[in-house]
Amino acid sequence: MDNFVFYSPTCFVFGKDEENHVGAYVRRFGGSRVLIHYGGGSVIRSGLMVRVKRSLAEEGISFVELGGVKPNPRSGLVYQGIELCRKEQVDFVLAVGGGSVIDSAKAIAAGALYEGDFWDHHQGKPITKALPIGTILTIAAAGSEGSPNCVITKEEGMYKRGANSDHLRPAFSILNPALTQTVPPYQIACGITDIMAHLLERYFTTTADVEVTDRLIEGLLLAVIKEAPRVMADPSDYQAQANLMWAGMMAHNNSCGVGRTQDWASHYIEHELSALYDCAHGAGLAVVFPAWMTYTMGHNVSRFAQLAVRVWGCQMDFTHPENTARAGITALKQFWTSLGMPTTFAELGAKPEDIEHMARLACHGDVRKGSLGTFAKLDAEDVAKIYRLML
Ligand code: NAP
Ligand code: FE
Repeated sequence: MDNFVFYSPTCFVFGKDEENHVGAYVRRFGGSRVLIHYGGGSVIRSGLMVRVKRSLAEEGISFVELGGVKPNPRSGLVYQGIELCRKEQVDFVLAVGGGSVIDSAKAIAAGALYEGDFWDHHQGKPITKALPIGTILTIAAAGSEGSPNCVITKEEGMYKRGANSDHLRPAFSILNPALTQTVPPYQIACGITDIMAHLLERYFTTTADVEVTDRLIEGLLLAVIKEAPRVMADPSDYQAQANLMWAGMMAHNNSCGVGRTQDWASHYIEHELSALYDCAHGAGLAVVFPAWMTYTMGHNVSRFAQLAVRVWGCQMDFTHPENTARAGITALKQFWTSLGMPTTFAELGAKPEDIEHMARLACHGDVRKGSLGTFAKLDAEDVAKIYRLML
């Protein structure tokens, strides 16, 4: 295990009706004038927004609103949010929605206190401060409610790039599983895929002796594999949704990733797809990850075989461990297919003629230094081959 610092200061408030106390949490974490940030309207249709505003009003907290965050959130709305925060002297950003809303809120929170262009943060400039952020999560997926990341797409050039800072970790996150009961089935499946991908990005490590984090990842994968069909069959199943929601947080606040190298090439390869074709992030990952696994398996077959045996219950083939490894990849693919996730490039709306361009952007676009990944170091030619495996 490598040295590490684990910093996860977020106050997680979990359970039924907890959004009714949001005003008290905003107050506790220093907010008096709030930007409420939300997406395409699901939080209004569900009645959640009325409860949020009532709770803020009860605490005497004033607010302004900015809706309209799209899945794969764009820079244009971030600029608007920054302007609004400055004009209205906002001191707290409250995200009500999914990962896209939370990421947009994080970019606004950092941008509001930064004199330059917020996009600098997505090109490697460190974030030194941000307004405090609170979240009310409505979908189990990205894990942004506990993560230090935000991913934004810049419209000029359609660059989808992340920024990373402990200043972006929410002060509090309210997780009421009942709020996820209205998520459409396709989005539930995308969320499940993203949660599993966050665990797999950490599982494929080059660090030895990481038994605790290996077992945490395997345990979470097993739990998600058990709960996912329950949630898909009956989205009103509160307990299944509760397990999925907490798994989504655990998968990405880095509890499972400390002290080990992590890979993340699949995420970067996917980001080019969701940037260019606006597909759902989880759907993109369902196509990318098996292709990445097939391409990189040779770097450490026994790690793939371990995953196959411990998580998918595959039989270990000691003479040909690559057979076990392949069986694990097939099991993962079948699982995602059973949830309704795509398996091919075409299903994402992706075009073979864009492969070279995307591979170049993934490896060289602005801050990238020519390669991706740590488990396997991939250059643009490797990435193009991985895209071709998805055809
Ligand atoms: P999302 O993009 O926030 O939301 C997807 C869709 O689900 C939206 O149309 C949204 O509608 C709808 N929705 C959400 N909650 C709902 C509910 N309770 N009822 C009905 N509809 C609901 O999904 P996400 O997967 O959470 O976020 C994806 C983004 O996060 C991607 O851009 C991805 O790259 C990023 N990401 C970030 C991190 C991180 O650590 N920061 C990690 C992984 C991925 P409305 O807009 O109407 O609400
Ligand atoms: Fe993700």
